[in-house]
Amino acid sequence: MEQRALLPDDPITTERDQPPVAFIPTPSAAYRQHRKAAQLLDQPGSPRGAGEPASEVPLPYAFGARVLMWKQDPSVLDMGTRKAFLPGIVLAGPRDARIASGDPGISPVEPNAFGDFVTMPDTPQFDAVHTFAVVRQTLTMYQRSLSSSGAEMPLPWQWNSSIDTAPLQIFPYGLPNVMNAFYSRTQNCLKFGDFVPSGQSERVFTCRSFDIVAHETGHAVLDGLKPHWLLADAPPQTGGLHESFGDLTAIFLALSQLDQCEAVVAQTKARLHDKTFLADIAEQFGLALGSTTGLRNADNDLTLSQAGTQVHAISQVFTGGVYDILADLFALERNPALEDDAAVLHRVASWLRGLVLRALIAA
Ligand SMILES: [Zn+2]
Repeated sequence: MEQRALLPDDPITTERDQPPVAFIPTPSAAYRQHRKAAQLLDQPGSPRGAGEPASEVPLPYAFGARVLMWKQDPSVLDMGTRKAFLPGIVLAGPRDARIASGDPGISPVEPNAFGDFVTMPDTPQFDAVHTFAVVRQTLTMYQRSLSSSGAEMPLPWQWNSSIDTAPLQIFPYGLPNVMNAFYSRTQNCLKFGDFVPSGQSERVFTCRSFDIVAHETGHAVLDGLKPHWLLADAPPQTGGLHESFGDLTAIFLALSQLDQCEAVVAQTKARLHDKTFLADIAEQFGLALGSTTGLRNADNDLTLSQAGTQVHAISQVFTGGVYDILADLFALERNPALEDDAAVLHRVASWLRGLVLRALIAA
């Protein structure tokens, strides 16, 4: 055999206490194989010899796709875009078992050679990927909350049953020239509007807003858990709670991402009651309406008697209460001598998110 010819004096078969027989090892594959075999006898338990290639035991293959997405929205300039990893199988569209991009105005986005969805901002493909990614991150976030609390319950869409596993459809361009976005139970979908604000020339796409997409997904998640809360004859405070859950979803989703926690800490010097993009919901949409604190400001002290009767106005009361709890918890828990502020904020927000979700389920 060729291997034999290369290694005429095999140390495995020679006596141990004899000095090694002189031969010049050549760094061939056969020699390395031989040395490995010899080492197993000399040093049992050694994972690998110095200079040997890494273990041949394959690491478990991680399914998932990288996506490029807006961190907040195109108007929050210091946040910009980020690459994010979505664990799980993501197919062309993008779509997966629960969420499907199905906008007739956008040709399906194909993954690249690495299975990733990295496209240019300000293109329909980017909008489809960004919208899908935010919906997916939101659903994953709440699934984690339930799993970590020990409640092994699924988070179905409202229409799901043993015979209907239809996904939530996403239409990033679903409402042309409409200054709004909505969740529709009867159409199994989220639709996002785009419009040119009066006096401006640049079109605003609501699907590009992290906050708005998270808010609408919040409606879909809550509707799956509490179908009666969306009925037309529900009192306005119930509708207000639905809207608040949407805004809190945007805040919790931002705080489930460590880079956003770091940005909040840096922006506010760790004081959550300072002005921050975190409390400003839908910044770009708010700017289009002439507001510099977003469409709504979560850091408010409104009371029910001040808020009026419109569901979005009422929602601010509950959102403001939960935001105050978040700020208090963070102030109480932070200890820069022991732990990084961003890590504390990430942890505290995760705990509060689970509390809110479980409380709503129990309600
Ligand atoms: Zn809403």
